[in-house]
Amino acid sequence: MIWPAVDAIKQRIPLLDYLQTQNWKPVRRISRGRLMGLCPLHLDRKPSFLVDPVKNLFYCYGCGRGGDVIRFVELCYDVRFGEAMALLRRSSQCGSLLKDVTSFYRMQLHRHPEAAAYLQQRGIDQPQVIEELEIGYAPGLCLRHWLTASGYALGDLQQAGLVNADGLDTFSHRVVFPLEANLYGRSIGKAAAHRFLPGAKGGLYAWDRVKRCPEVILVEGLFDLAALWQAGFRNATCALGSHLNARQIRQLCDGVPRTVYLALDSDANGSGQHAAQRLSRRLLDAGVTALRVELPDGHDPNSFFVNGGDGKQFQRLLERALP
Ligand SMILES: [Zn+2]
Repeated sequence: MIWPAVDAIKQRIPLLDYLQTQNWKPVRRISRGRLMGLCPLHLDRKPSFLVDPVKNLFYCYGCGRGGDVIRFVELCYDVRFGEAMALLRRSSQCGSLLKDVTSFYRMQLHRHPEAAAYLQQRGIDQPQVIEELEIGYAPGLCLRHWLTASGYALGDLQQAGLVNADGLDTFSHRVVFPLEANLYGRSIGKAAAHRFLPGAKGGLYAWDRVKRCPEVILVEGLFDLAALWQAGFRNATCALGSHLNARQIRQLCDGVPRTVYLALDSDANGSGQHAAQRLSRRLLDAGVTALRVELPDGHDPNSFFVNGGDGKQFQRLLERALP
């Protein structure tokens, strides 16, 4: 039966609580405890988004959309009902779990010289940036014991994708970055380079920090972002790949005037450049100024800095960027 599950989710995750985890803030209180604020679903200049915490419903007088927390997730992430339910279930189960996993991996980073050596090799050495990005290390063969000793059920860890069917940690020998509702792990060994937990990669990285910047630099990977942050380009965000999902596109096309610099990988086979061209056309169609940053052949922003590039040189690349 699906309806009891729906009611259970709605009871466990009140709409207002969920909105607050998405950084929504009411602007004013109106009658019967209802709240008004800016609509997170469209570009809203005056508060038109009404939330009724008693009825657990929202309605937007701007875009005319409304419903319950599940409907909100459907609209916010462009997903169907089933996936919205799964996202909500995961966010309620995973919130504290992912926080615990992140702090465990952060402790491991300082205990494993191979992880520090890998970061050094990728040019990521500013302690402040490592702290801010909450970079950790998954050595493998230890997360499960630690979490079950902390009271988590093995089944929950398997459902979250942290432990596999054989009972082993799924992240092993990986430098790990926490995302809004997922984890990204970069292999430092021979395993496949990139790994996420099951589920969506989420929106643009740290979008709330950069969305008000008149100029935003978009990169593919978190090591690119870390390198740019270290070089002082705090207006960088990351798509976690060269393909943007619907939510990421919507974030860039939110109607706020800004210039987006596309600093995607300059792959030897030209695939990164093609991706940048497609994306730049798509953004231009949506009225966003998009400029392509030409990195030297075979480089991404991370390797640009690792190979001796500096902030001034990168600034010149930004100035030379073309539509
Ligand atoms: Zn709206």
